[in-house]
Amino acid sequence: MTTERLVPISIVGARGRMGKTLIREIVLSDSMILEAAVDREGGAGLGQDAGRLAGLHDIGVTVVDDLRPRRNSVVVDFSLAPATDANIRRCVEAGVPLVLGTTGLQKSTRELLRSASREIAIVSAANFSVGVTLLTKIAGLVAGSLGESWDAELLEIHHSHKRDAPSGTALRIAKAVAKATGRELEGVMRTDRAGEQARPRERGEIGVAAVRGGDSIGEHTLMFLAEGERLELTHRAFDRAIFARGALRAARWVAGKAPGLYSMADVIGLGDLG
Ligand code: NAD
Repeated sequence: MTTERLVPISIVGARGRMGKTLIREIVLSDSMILEAAVDREGGAGLGQDAGRLAGLHDIGVTVVDDLRPRRNSVVVDFSLAPATDANIRRCVEAGVPLVLGTTGLQKSTRELLRSASREIAIVSAANFSVGVTLLTKIAGLVAGSLGESWDAELLEIHHSHKRDAPSGTALRIAKAVAKATGRELEGVMRTDRAGEQARPRERGEIGVAAVRGGDSIGEHTLMFLAEGERLELTHRAFDRAIFARGALRAARWVAGKAPGLYSMADVIGLGDLG
């Protein structure tokens, strides 16, 4: 029998691909309970039992369109970028921790996140997989050791429904590479090399290319190219459950933590990702 406290969790974006996966993982776990399942107003699925919506049995929690987290619970948000500001504010009002997986966030949302983290504990990650968290850490170590004489380029592949490009994960990996070589990503990232933008590669650029199609859950390959050799670091996700399990591990970790903005690297004890 487990002696761990059951962590009540509210899922925002409950009807989505990630939302349903998160609900399944919570229902099948013995250390968490689903407190609420929230999605936007209107559309199919509202008022339906969350367990059934997720492809399991009835669990007595219906999908609602209003986030009202209770004390001692944790909110896990995998919705869409425009919804994020309101969800962050709700968590601050209620004084509950937030695990934020939504990507494609506006600069103003990232600023709101930083100010909210002075009042509540927040774990924010573009990718909650343990493998990608390690890849990001390794990317910085390799980039720092190779220096700018090796050209760093990133390729990411995602399913055709993905709204943002490049992926938040690709941006995070590229940021770690830039930081390890003493640069800001904004000044060195190239996402378009076609038409008017075409020109020979400049030393120090970090190219990031996005492929969209099929049902790919997410693949990231970081290449370091040099004269006569190429080093490639690849992560491939085969199951959305890896993100859900990572986010729920973060939710259990952040329950009761002091206010602050934490990363998945903090959750798994890797320290600063760069
Ligand atoms: P999806 O489109 O399948 O689901 C999004 C859900 O959010 C939908 O059900 C939609 O109705 C709901 N939503 C929209 N506006 C809302 C609002 N105002 N309030 C509540 N719910 C609202 O998308 P998905 O594939 O499940 O991905 C969701 C997000 O998670 C995306 O930003 C995606 O990039 C991100 N993601 C992050 C990770 C990670 O590890 N951090 C992994 C996978 C996906």
